[in-house]
Amino acid sequence: MNHKAFVTQAIEEKQSLIIDLSDQIFDFAELGFHEFKTVALYEKVLKEEGFHVEMGLAGMPTAFKAVYGEGKPVIGLLAEYDALPELSQKGGCTMRDPREDENPDGHGCGHNLLGAGAFAAALALKKYLEEHPGKGTVILFGCPSEEKGNGKALMARDGIFDGVDAAFTWHPMDTNEAWTVSTLANVSVFFRFKGVTAHAAASPEQGRSALDAAELMSVGVNYLREHIIPEARIHYAYRDVGGIAPNVVQGRSCVHYFVRAPKSWQVQEIYKRVIDVAEGAAKMTGTEMTYELYAGLSDYIPNRVMTELVHECMHEIGPASYSEEDYALARKFLHETSTEAELEAKKAKFTRMFGAGRLDEIMERPIHSEIAPMNWMRPPMSGSTDVGDASYVMPTAQLMLASATLGTASHTWQFTAHGNTDMAHKAMLTAGKVLALAAIRLIEDPEKLEKARAEWMAETGGVYVCPIPKEIGPRLDE
Ligand SMILES: [Zn+2]
Repeated sequence: MNHKAFVTQAIEEKQSLIIDLSDQIFDFAELGFHEFKTVALYEKVLKEEGFHVEMGLAGMPTAFKAVYGEGKPVIGLLAEYDALPELSQKGGCTMRDPREDENPDGHGCGHNLLGAGAFAAALALKKYLEEHPGKGTVILFGCPSEEKGNGKALMARDGIFDGVDAAFTWHPMDTNEAWTVSTLANVSVFFRFKGVTAHAAASPEQGRSALDAAELMSVGVNYLREHIIPEARIHYAYRDVGGIAPNVVQGRSCVHYFVRAPKSWQVQEIYKRVIDVAEGAAKMTGTEMTYELYAGLSDYIPNRVMTELVHECMHEIGPASYSEEDYALARKFLHETSTEAELEAKKAKFTRMFGAGRLDEIMERPIHSEIAPMNWMRPPMSGSTDVGDASYVMPTAQLMLASATLGTASHTWQFTAHGNTDMAHKAMLTAGKVLALAAIRLIEDPEKLEKARAEWMAETGGVYVCPIPKEIGPRLDE
């Protein structure tokens, strides 16, 4: 049996288990670091399937790893499973309609599918390793809190991925493509100013305004913007303005900053200059400044050798075959959940993607049912992900598969609504097959693996500086 037929059969015989896992997690919809029911289910299922399971990693009770096999290479599969606040939604429903339980949260990024698709690949790889003992090891990493807790950054920092030769993952999306774009690195920092309160009319000379300091910092950073790379982004929000009385000189203030840039080292450089600006603002106002790094993420480095392999495997497995019912549901989602203006924007996007000649066909059958060509020329995605930190410590590749109607943005109730539909299940099972096939190809081709590792070494120099310092642990209660 060839490898394609092997992984297809391995996953299809476990299909109901995989779908059931994903659908139960869709209903649990637990937020980052609170994925307790979710990981209890993973632990049970993985043990039943014969994996050696270790629960709780890097200080995070909802992180785990499930290992099967022995020796090199060690292939990692990255699973996520956290939900998003306030996005509870009944599956398959094209009207805004939260699930009938107490939980307001929902899988608006499809991480129920993401984790279960990686799990599917782990099952197929385990079966392969059973038939080829000693050929390698598979580890399914349960990575908590992607949305808000930077779980993989903490796992990378604490050495959880050490010894892994190559890692794969995927993400539910509205298109089918190998993931060639990087994501932005970022830091999230609180700047606090401490001044002296005073009567603003009677004795202003005795006051030192922390609010002035915060405002001057904003002015300084706004001047800084001209002299940084255009791809960088700096955002801020006032978290504490001192008080509400204009006749009091404000004695304290706090501003929350994000700094984003294509590479981690660029973020660090700009971050240092933002600190200088804050120090300047403190000096100008006679206040004291302290800053606290809250979180950080590295940019994603797609491993080209492995991403090309994933692309080949996508073609070999083929896109999921969607039914007429799937297309009918997608049509409803497209036409009934978009405003007039959104629909026009989507039409423009589809025209760009497929050409004007195919617009009518796409509007009638709005599921991406082919595989997008590889494109290495695109600028980084404007968002950030902790897969970036994973990609600094091991060669990493990922793909996107269409689990939702074309044009559906993630982090919306509409995206949640797709999360337990047939369309989504098909994408998830396809992801499992592609990832398992790519992993087997890598195991059977040590030269390719060597090339992937050489590329990773050339990109990173084998150095990873986690943007989150050692003394900062997971923020489990937030
Ligand atoms: Zn996501």
